[in-house]
Amino acid sequence: MNLPHVVIVGGGFAGLYAAKAFARAQVRVTLIDKHTYHMFRPLMYQVETGILSADEIAAPLRSIFRSQSNIDVRMGEVTGIDTKNQIVRVEPCDLQYDYLVLATGIRSNYFGHDGWKEFAPSIDSLDGAETIRRDILMAFDYRRYQHDTVRAAAMAKQRGATLIAFTDPYLSPLAAHADIILTTSVQSPSPFGALTPAVALVEALVTGLVDLLGDRPLERMARYDSMYAGFVDAGDRAQGEGT
Ligand SMILES: Cc1cc2nc3c(=O)[nH]c(=O)nc-3n(C[C@H](O)[C@H](O)[C@H](O)COP(=O)(O)OP(=O)(O)OC[C@H]3O[C@@H](n4cnc5c(N)ncnc54)[C@H](O)[C@@H]3O)c2cc1C
Repeated sequence: MNLPHVVIVGGGFAGLYAAKAFARAQVRVTLIDKHTYHMFRPLMYQVETGILSADEIAAPLRSIFRSQSNIDVRMGEVTGIDTKNQIVRVEPCDLQYDYLVLATGIRSNYFGHDGWKEFAPSIDSLDGAETIRRDILMAFDYRRYQHDTVRAAAMAKQRGATLIAFTDPYLSPLAAHADIILTTSVQSPSPFGALTPAVALVEALVTGLVDLLGDRPLERMARYDSMYAGFVDAGDRAQGEGT
């Protein structure tokens, strides 16, 4: 029997549930995705912060559909649609369709400020999440110590992050997980500790990095400042329009 051919592009939430909805229909379905897996995006934050690994939120599309007999799962990046001739352009061979479901999802929006990309990598893909994960975590914890800071730092370390602990000479418990420990005194004549030496340490570190790396950090800080200024201006304008 020559069944109608439904082609679904994208195996995200929309494509996945569309394909499942056709399970008992008299059609043959082809699901195409540029990846072999379906990704559970709401848990991307956990991958980014090292709480979960990428494979814990990515399930192979073929195993999801192993008991659905009318579906063929293909990996490939769709590069175009010829709506006149009902053809999906995909390597290595194009696909003819009777019905087409386009479920290719989202793209990060930098609101016309492409310069923001460098400072705010997208977390709409596993590549982005892994990039963020390679960042060094600098955790600040001075007496009295914060349990949540220690716990978050320990989890990040466990997942492979490099941890730099900024603490006092009595050492926050997060020092036990740190690759590098930087201490400064918090003693002061008052009953409260003082963080002035900690601020001086951060300033010294920034100066040291600029000395070591030349103009690159300065340029990056200047770009960050201009991005931030643009962000504040945009916020002020939006607030002005709202009043
Ligand atoms: C970090 C994060 C947290 C989120 N948290 C929540 C939440 O808590 N609750 C909630 O309701 N929503 C949440 N969302 C939003 C939710 O994940 C999206 O609304 C949902 O994923 C959209 O589903 P979709 O199928 O349209 O697209 P997607 O899930 O983006 O799937 C699109 C699929 O198309 C594939 N694709 C794209 N282009 C092509 C191409 N040219 N060829 C082949 N394949 C292609 C992609 O590989 C992908 O698999 C979150 C999103 C993110 C990024």
